Amino acid sequence: MLDFSRQYEQISVEILAAIERVCTGQHFILGEEVQQFEAAVASLCRVAHGIGCASGTDALWLAMAAAEIGPGDTVLTTPFTFFSTVSSIVRTGARPLLADIDPKTYNLDPTQAAATLVGLPKRSRVRAILPVHLYGQCADWDAFAQLKKEFEVLLVEDAAQAFGAKWNNRPAGSLGDLATFSFYPTKNLSACGDAGLVTTGNAHFADRARMMRAHGMRERYFHEEIGWNSRLDTLQAAVLLVKLRYIERWNQQRQERARTYADLFQQQGLVEAAVYPSHGVVLPYVDPRGTHVFHQYVIRAPRRDALRAFLAERGIGSEIYYPLPLHLQQCFQNLGYAEGAFPESERAAKEVLALPIFPELTQEEQERVVAAIAAFLS
Ligand SMILES: *Cc1c(COP(=O)(O)O)cnc(C)c1O
Repeated sequence: MLDFSRQYEQISVEILAAIERVCTGQHFILGEEVQQFEAAVASLCRVAHGIGCASGTDALWLAMAAAEIGPGDTVLTTPFTFFSTVSSIVRTGARPLLADIDPKTYNLDPTQAAATLVGLPKRSRVRAILPVHLYGQCADWDAFAQLKKEFEVLLVEDAAQAFGAKWNNRPAGSLGDLATFSFYPTKNLSACGDAGLVTTGNAHFADRARMMRAHGMRERYFHEEIGWNSRLDTLQAAVLLVKLRYIERWNQQRQERARTYADLFQQQGLVEAAVYPSHGVVLPYVDPRGTHVFHQYVIRAPRRDALRAFLAERGIGSEIYYPLPLHLQQCFQNLGYAEGAFPESERAAKEVLALPIFPELTQEEQERVVAAIAAFLS
């Protein structure tokens, strides 16, 4: 599914030199590399501020805490995402409200989001919509920008999977009032451990995020609010600065591999031009308004679990993102959603399969993956 060693081989000399520099300097917390990395990401995202923190999960919490989202507030998001999109809302003290996905892109469906907001009682304090750029493709930001005006809400991007993605040529990270990234080792831009970052064009939010990631203090040992310890390690920032020089090329290589999969599936006659599969595979839909960075290459397949087992027997890794939508998770039962509440998310959970995709994946390996799927479907 993923072979990290192929990337490390290319850049190990630079990574080790960067680590050595930090160890020599002995400035491990919020050192110079942290500010350099924050500035570099902000500049790439074309926003004024980047605030490094300990993980993508913390970045979500920090972004909302910076916007003073908390108890009594509601935040609307998707049930078809990684756990922490929703858990971080709960962690602020706000209440998560869910709406279903668009079955083509798997992203929060703006039409469903609007219908959910219209149906709410007048006094519900919906402060923000939190779309996720799932698998590396931006959510429909034209529509969400419209909803922002209509419902007077903030927009927060969960861009954990979308570093380098664009919407109408605008980078992920610059679309919302605030945006969050994760640099978890499997992400397109990854640290040697956990790391995350918030971007924003809003100086007030940026200032609050910096305060909240450092125990709610501006002046040492004087605490304005109950913040948290969520700083970005200097070591991780140093590693990320090295990898930042390569990310554009790596994202292009992911896009090339996505095209290769599409060509191979076409050549084998396996593609089903439908939203849901009955006999062939449904390829990822790429919205022409965006630039997809293929954090994952996700197909829909008939008899998905049997296919996954068949591939595993042949030494081919695959993954399911995500097998159980969040509204059906045991820990979120108190949100009050029953099975059937979000049919598209529930259906996607049964049909999606992520195939191996990373910059160093070879053509020969991709041919093996597609040949095995062809053998299964024949
Ligand atoms: C990875 C991920 C996160 C969490 O990031 P961590 O760095 O693992 O805490 C949040 N949301 C989405 C969509 C993710 O993929």
